[in-house]
Amino acid sequence: MTNRKVRVRFAPSPTGPLHMGGVRTALFNYLFAKKYNGDFILRIEDTDQNRFVPGAEEYIIESLKWCGLQFSEGPGNGKYGPYRQSERKEIYKKYADYLIDSGMAYFAFDTPEQLDEIRIEAEKKGQVFSYGILTRNNLQNSLTLSKTEVDRKLNSGESFVIRFKMPEDTLVTENDIIRGEVTFSTSVLDDKVIFKSDGMPTYHLANVVDDHLMEITHVIRGEEWLSSMPLHVLLYRTLGWEKTKPQFAHLPLILKPTGKGKLSKRDGDKMGFPVFPVRWADTETNEVFRGYREDGYFPEAFINLLALLGWNPGTEQEFFSLEELSEIFSLERVVKSGSRFDPEKAKWFNRHYFQQKDVTELAELFKPVLIEKGISVSNEMLLKVIAEVKERCGFTTDLWEHSYFFFSMPSEYDIKTIKKHWKEDTSEKLLAISKLFENIENWKAQQIKETFSDFLNTKEWAFGTVMNPLRLCLVGGNVGPDLFVICDILGKDTTLTRIKSGIEKIEQITI
Ligand code: GLU
Repeated sequence: MTNRKVRVRFAPSPTGPLHMGGVRTALFNYLFAKKYNGDFILRIEDTDQNRFVPGAEEYIIESLKWCGLQFSEGPGNGKYGPYRQSERKEIYKKYADYLIDSGMAYFAFDTPEQLDEIRIEAEKKGQVFSYGILTRNNLQNSLTLSKTEVDRKLNSGESFVIRFKMPEDTLVTENDIIRGEVTFSTSVLDDKVIFKSDGMPTYHLANVVDDHLMEITHVIRGEEWLSSMPLHVLLYRTLGWEKTKPQFAHLPLILKPTGKGKLSKRDGDKMGFPVFPVRWADTETNEVFRGYREDGYFPEAFINLLALLGWNPGTEQEFFSLEELSEIFSLERVVKSGSRFDPEKAKWFNRHYFQQKDVTELAELFKPVLIEKGISVSNEMLLKVIAEVKERCGFTTDLWEHSYFFFSMPSEYDIKTIKKHWKEDTSEKLLAISKLFENIENWKAQQIKETFSDFLNTKEWAFGTVMNPLRLCLVGGNVGPDLFVICDILGKDTTLTRIKSGIEKIEQITI
């Protein structure tokens, strides 16, 4: 560890919603910063105006907020700003100029059409074209054109790009905290565009310049950026910033639940789970992508499952709070190979956090569902219902499925159950039960059960002949918890009304 204060950044491009892999990158940066009392910075990398998607930045911020990943510096807040690259445009030009002056970069004037043509020609010969050591000397750039011609083109406003001049036959070795020493040969690297004539840098230049100016100590990002590391290292070297160059850590991929490849944004819809933290509605395609938040996941569960995708605590422990993770997280325990995402495990995590919540909290979460359904219920009854069905649920959304019958009279009665359990003498028996119930003073599950059992024993009625039809009247089918608990929660009046109404309606059903 360096003696500098740890400063890490999460640097998404606002090109769409944040994939859960992106949230994991943010999380690992956050945890690393917390662990070392460092700073966690949000930087918006919006240099590619063509890929800019309105609403994406707000989406990213909202997602981080939902996850509890508070950044200490970011758009509108912090002394290393601005934190949006599009607002830092003026800063990059001088570095691009410096690279040109030092001979490490050059102007290139080839149009996209010309390059496409060359690409196609190469393909015909079974080759892959790349703008670099082997080809740059035959192309339209300041290495091949005269100075007068270059100046003329620049002065006449011709469009250009600035490319980094990859040194020949050089080995670039860099340590990656997760992968160890990695060596790249420049002979396989192309001359990347670092600046464009619209005055905007590309990702590579902006990223390096900003990491330097923002005094970033560790670059923790996805594996897809590993191949950019040698270029970035060379940029640090060329710009004379090698001493303060950040350390790199490239996180492993998150893999699809089954089959090959990384988890993609389409997998969620195909396989029935969210891939995004919160819902995203694409205004161009009108597509809607589900979110963990809207699917009823708790942020604690989402964070917990993400933490274990690629990081190994070294113990059997599986449940971790954000605070706990902040203490024990270490990049050394991040694995190199991809981690398979298991949607069932995600549900299992949620179930755990659901069970941890007390009934009052769950009631608050459930109320909006009830309001939407037009149901009004006393707080007292709601708490009783939740306490009763909680154990069967893993999500707030499961609560309705397991409790709807408490809140309104059955609107229909299950035909199968009627066929099986409703006999000639059922109504008569239920009327007798109704009478019996009327006289129970202490309306509690235990008391109801005892009175009911004594009565049936005296009458010598088999329990099933009454229990099943009674349940049918109360909840409409063969569902719900213990029958006497249902009676207790419904209250005496409602229980009696439902028995009466059930008998009337079921008797009218002809099967
Ligand atoms: N803007 C890049 C992205 O969207 C950031 C990569 C990095 O962290 O260097 O992933």
